[in-house]
Amino acid sequence: MSSDKLGDKLRDKEKAEENRYFAEQDRKRLEKLREEEEHSQIVLGRCPKCGEALITRTVDDVEVDECKACGGMWLDKGELEQIVAREGEGWASKWIRTVLK
Ligand SMILES: [Zn+2]
Repeated sequence: MSSDKLGDKLRDKEKAEENRYFAEQDRKRLEKLREEEEHSQIVLGRCPKCGEALITRTVDDVEVDECKACGGMWLDKGELEQIVAREGEGWASKWIRTVLK
């Protein structure tokens, strides 16, 4: 009888540790999600193509507005100029400069 109780206690302890472990995992997952949300946030803009809300992501310090619904990605002039400034004389820079003219 008393050994059963000991067994129960051990099982309870194991269960409690297991619960703590999963609680910790959940906490880490939530923290990660929150971090990701800080880096990608819904902006006021709507996708010009399909009208869904745009999400702003910052990739290597350049902001890009992304539409999760249709996959559209939108860069404003300043953002394109940032890319050109970094890329130098590559094909993409020439192409963007032509578009911006
Ligand atoms: Zn869209």
